[in-house]
Order: sequence, then C-alpha cells, then structure tokens
Amino acid sequence: MFKKGSKLYSIFNNKCPRCNEGDFMKNNTKFGLIKSVKMHESCTICNLKYMIEPSFFYGAMYVTYGLTIALSVAAFIIAYGIFGLSFVYSTVAIAITVIGFIPITIRLSRIIWINMFVSYDVPQD
Ligand SMILES: [Zn+2]
Repeated sequence: MFKKGSKLYSIFNNKCPRCNEGDFMKNNTKFGLIKSVKMHESCTICNLKYMIEPSFFYGAMYVTYGLTIALSVAAFIIAYGIFGLSFVYSTVAIAITVIGFIPITIRLSRIIWINMFVSYDVPQD
C-alpha cells in the first residue's frame, strides 16, 4: 500500500523504521493486549536498538493521547450523528471503543513515536 522507505510503510506494516525489513512488534496480531504489544529489543536485520534510551517509549503516551482523542471524536460522530443515540449512550460508545482499541493504539503509538526519531536508511552492506 505504501512505498518502502516511507514512514507510513514502517508504521502500517510493523517494520523497523531504519531498514523497513525487520519486524518491530513480535506478533502481527492486533488482538489480545499482552501478545500484541510485545516488541523486539532490536531489529533482526539492521540491529537498530528500539529502546533508544531508557524509558524511550513513555513518550509514546503523547501519541496515544492524540490517537485516543481522534478515536473518541470518530466514535462520537458515529454514535450520536449517524446512529442517533442519546448523549449518555454515545459516551458509553466512546468508552467501549477506546477500551476495545487499546492494543491497536499502543502498537501504533509506539511505532509512530520511534518513526519520529529514526529515519529510513538503506542498509550499508
Ligand atoms: Zn532494521
């Protein structure tokens, strides 16, 4: 879908941000909280250490926040605007959506976060 060498390719294909070859997360499943957020320590192809500095992925919280807001707005528009639910039920729909998408938002936020710091680089050898 996205060209290799772009950040979107790395984000949506679960690939290392530097070489776009090695996997970032251990499992490709997006379901199951524990299984879906297990990361490799470093890239199996180019050896990039994913934990750039201690607690590096705490910063991914900011990305999670942004994604959660976007998700909440979308859930609200669908529940309130399209299905015509009451305000209270729309709020419940937001909560269910946000909780249900936790594994996906965590995965996405981590790979988006590391992509902000690491750029694509063609392997040297
Ligand atoms: Zn790599």
